[in-house]
Amino acid sequence: MQKLRSDVTVIGSGPAGSTVARIVGKSGFDVLLVEKDEYPGKTNVCAGGVPKSIIKDTGLSPDIIEKEITGEEHHFPWGCRSFDLDHVTVYRNTFDRFLAEKAVESGAKMLTGTQIKDVSVKNNGASAFYKDNSICSKLIVFADGPNTMAFRKFGIGFKLEPAKTIVSVACEVKWDSNPLDHYELYYGSEISSWGYGWIFPKSNTVNVGVVCLSNRVRSNMIDSLNYLLKKHPLTHGRLKDKEIIWQSSALIPVAPAKRIFGEGILVVGDAAGMVDPISGGGIASSIRGAELAGKVCVMALEEDKFTSVSLSRYQTLWKKSRVHSHIYGKYILTKIFQNFIEIDKNSYPKMAAFNSRMASFNNKIENIFWL
Ligand SMILES: Cc1cc2nc3c(=O)[nH]c(=O)nc-3n(C[C@H](O)[C@H](O)[C@H](O)COP(=O)(O)OP(=O)(O)OC[C@H]3O[C@@H](n4cnc5c(N)ncnc54)[C@H](O)[C@@H]3O)c2cc1C
Repeated sequence: MQKLRSDVTVIGSGPAGSTVARIVGKSGFDVLLVEKDEYPGKTNVCAGGVPKSIIKDTGLSPDIIEKEITGEEHHFPWGCRSFDLDHVTVYRNTFDRFLAEKAVESGAKMLTGTQIKDVSVKNNGASAFYKDNSICSKLIVFADGPNTMAFRKFGIGFKLEPAKTIVSVACEVKWDSNPLDHYELYYGSEISSWGYGWIFPKSNTVNVGVVCLSNRVRSNMIDSLNYLLKKHPLTHGRLKDKEIIWQSSALIPVAPAKRIFGEGILVVGDAAGMVDPISGGGIASSIRGAELAGKVCVMALEEDKFTSVSLSRYQTLWKKSRVHSHIYGKYILTKIFQNFIEIDKNSYPKMAAFNSRMASFNNKIENIFWL
């Protein structure tokens, strides 16, 4: 049995985990980033749409950008509306790998192909177990996605339950040098009773997918995806004969977690429900949450205090942040519109339309403010 030691163990090398590891590593403390897959992002099915500013903020090379996205087209049952956007798309296996490399450059150590099977927290520290080995540390950060061990073991972080979880089925379709530079979003009961379908373009592929709130799934999600690929009047002509490179499914948390810290524990990213509950986008918000988690890890290590009282600062900072206000506001909006779903089958598209108008209005106000 091998016994490793580190000040902080981070479970999961998605955008959240790598960001925490980079910040802790940079401050000179020992941090071990542990990933179950062979390399970060290997099994991620995400569409890879992020605000353009994230590439610069995380210090990544613009070379990883697949497509500059200048707008989004919402195809509602009653017509189409377009909004401007300053986004880019990336392949997650590239994006996640480079973020993890940034963490390693900052001094973090990394273990790949290593699945943490159990965790224990005692007065004298926290231990994470894999195979016959263990890692002893002062703090454990759970950045292990929506089905987080933090909730299963300690009741902290995101609780995976149907009313708060979106099911998604997505695929990557080969389309060399495609001309698209917009996200295309499709609504309607053939696609999803509480959700939408999308086309997100990269340079030589497009990511196509559908999402639906778990407790609202009425038909097979693969049928909904096939409808978008092969039958939808606006998409099938462009997609039906193209090669599908991969197809997979995954869960997305769409409710912020009630508690994201415990004795010797922090929870971050999808594992903490740091996701926009309307779009399901969580890369940028997980990175923002992880920056706060990294900061609190460093403060706790400097003070040598790992009690829940000391670590509660993380939740306080998160709740005060603008990203949390955005997520929480949208969560409340979903709760309001869900009341109408039995009497109005278009309640989801109506909520999405309202949300897009609000976002566009807020952007204009912010632009005026900054001018
Ligand atoms: C179909 C789909 C499309 C999406 N599209 C977008 C999009 O376009 N834009 C956007 O912003 N967001 C999108 N999202 C959401 C986005 O993928 C997540 O919000 C984001 O990945 C959260 O990052 P994270 O680091 O918290 O978790 P993850 O990226 O899920 O990383 C968790 C990591 O932990 C590892 N792990 C899990 N358990 C263990 C363990 N026991 N031991 C070791 N390692 C472990 C996993 O292998 C994984 O690498 C999409 C999600 C889905 C499902």
